[in-house]
This record gives sequence, C-alpha cells and structure tokens, in this order.
Amino acid sequence: MCSKMKMKRFTAGCSKKTGRSEVKNETGKRTDHAALSPEKTAADSARSYPLEYVRDLIEQADAIVIGAGAGLSSAAGLTYSGERFERYFKDFQEKYGITDMYSGGFYPFKTLEEYWAWWSRHIFINRYEKAPGSVYDQLLSLVKDKNYFVITTNVDHQFQLAGFDPGRLYYMQGDYGLWQCSVPCHEQTYDNESVVREMIARQRDMKIPSDLVPHCPVCGRPMTMNLRIDNHFVQDEGWYAAQKRYHDFLERYADTKILFLELGVGYNTPGIIKIPFWKLVAHNPKAHLVSVNLEEELVPEDIQNQSLVLQGQISTLLDYLSPAQNKAADCSGYHHS
Ligand SMILES: [Zn+2]
Repeated sequence: MCSKMKMKRFTAGCSKKTGRSEVKNETGKRTDHAALSPEKTAADSARSYPLEYVRDLIEQADAIVIGAGAGLSSAAGLTYSGERFERYFKDFQEKYGITDMYSGGFYPFKTLEEYWAWWSRHIFINRYEKAPGSVYDQLLSLVKDKNYFVITTNVDHQFQLAGFDPGRLYYMQGDYGLWQCSVPCHEQTYDNESVVREMIARQRDMKIPSDLVPHCPVCGRPMTMNLRIDNHFVQDEGWYAAQKRYHDFLERYADTKILFLELGVGYNTPGIIKIPFWKLVAHNPKAHLVSVNLEEELVPEDIQNQSLVLQGQISTLLDYLSPAQNKAADCSGYHHS
C-alpha cells in the first residue's frame, strides 16, 4: 500500500534563542529562515516554521476536525504499562503473568468475578478519573472558540472530562463507561459508573462479590464491555446520532478551509481516521492536514503540499500553541533523526 507514497520527513527542532522552529530537510541541510517571499509556498513556510505554521492554520481555519488516537491519551499520562500498570495491577501481574493493561483486557479469566475485578479497576482509572496530564485541556483551550469536531478511537472519555462539547464528539469505538448485552440480544448500552464504583469498593483477592456480576436486563446473560473488539459491538442510538453529526459537519465544510488535525493516530485501524482524512484533504484544495505522531509518518504524494507531519511529542506542539505559553516555549521535544 505504501509503495506509491513518499515519506514526508520533517524533523523539527526549536531554537531556544528565538523560539523559532528549525527543520532539517531530507538531505540534512538546514532550511533557511529568510522571510517568506511571494513566490514561496505554504509548504516552504511549513518547513521553515512548522509550529507557527500550525498556529496560523488553526487561526485561519473555517473548521477544524480533530482525529485522536491512543497516542493522545498516552501523552495525557494514561499509559497502560510500566509503573502505572504495576501501581494498580501488581496482584494480577503476579498471579496471572499479565504484563500490561491492554493485553490484560483479553485475558481468559475463569470466572466473571475475576473478570469484573480486573475490568472495574481498568474502567475506573482510565474512564472515571481525569488523566493526569494536560494535553486534553490544552487542546480544548485551542479550539473551544472555533468551529470544531472530534472523531476518536479512544474509549476513555477524556474529551468529555476535559470539557469538550459532547455534541461535537464521535467516539466510534465504544466507551469504557458503557456495558451491553454480550449476545447482544438488543441494541442498547448501559451506564456502569455506580456499579463499577461498588465493584472497586467491594473486591477482595482479585474477585468481586457474585451479586455484583452484571447481567442483561432483557435475556439475563452476562453483560460485557461496549467496545469494538469483534462483531458483537452494539451501536446504540447515541452512537448513530454522533456519527450523523460528524458526517454532517464534514459535508457542511467540505469546500472550506478545513484543518484536519491528527493526533497520536497509529496504523492499527487506519481506515477510521487516517485514510479518510487523506481522502478528504485530497478532495479539497483548501484543506490542510497536520499530523503529530511519535512514529515516522507516511502521507500520500498527492497531498504532500497540503500536509505537515511532525514526528515527536504531542505535548510539544500543544505547549507551544497554548495561550498560556509564548514563543519561548521549549520546543526541544521534536528531535532531529
Ligand atoms: Zn441480552
């Protein structure tokens, strides 16, 4: 698939003296920082001052579509392994050999009491507690007075906890805060907060009391997480309404200066955010794509002049753009490769 694509390799750094971003091009030569002349293109500007360029794009956009993946929540401190995993799941690690929160979600626990002891902890710390980092708050401060919409594969509710308008969110892979029938015998989801809190309070030795195991109110079979992990995923009324709002938004601003801001989206499910964004940019000469990722990024050749790819920490960009900051912000997070 990638054979027709060309790597767009911006490796940005930041001069401490000027706060100006610096970029090396693919041959490693430093680009010059002369003022833009009329014949210079937007792409030249992006290469010379990528963070200022993003600021301008946000200010000038008629509409902004944020596409957020797991990398955004990692940047907010919701890491699924290492110290944070051990803090909450040391006992599960020792007994079952589980090494991180992601893989533990697929562990074949023998009883529902163990299964829900695991999941109630996971839900509580990743859904009902606000992330320790500030990237979601910074992102909101950037777009709250703008015409924006969010599509995310994240299921941790952090956009809502930061105060984003729920009517401008499409979290299409599910929500840790919702349960559904495991069959499913009907297309409805159920808020789990009060039961999860009780499971947390009453679990002992990695088991919840049997009377807390949730069952479907219609067919009586076990409930399960409302997550798109297989074809049993329930898309309820709220899900379809959010999908419609998202598509209406895209349609309404299809021919305008629309900015697609892709944050921490990897290649696990590129068909949800990444590839649709490429197509939307390709169909609209006024559209721009800004993608920030820790990994190297590919964009198709036909949209390279409309795209800026930054390899580095999301927080670096948001620190720089945050109204509380100024151009002297430390941009050293974007390193040369
Ligand atoms: Zn059922």
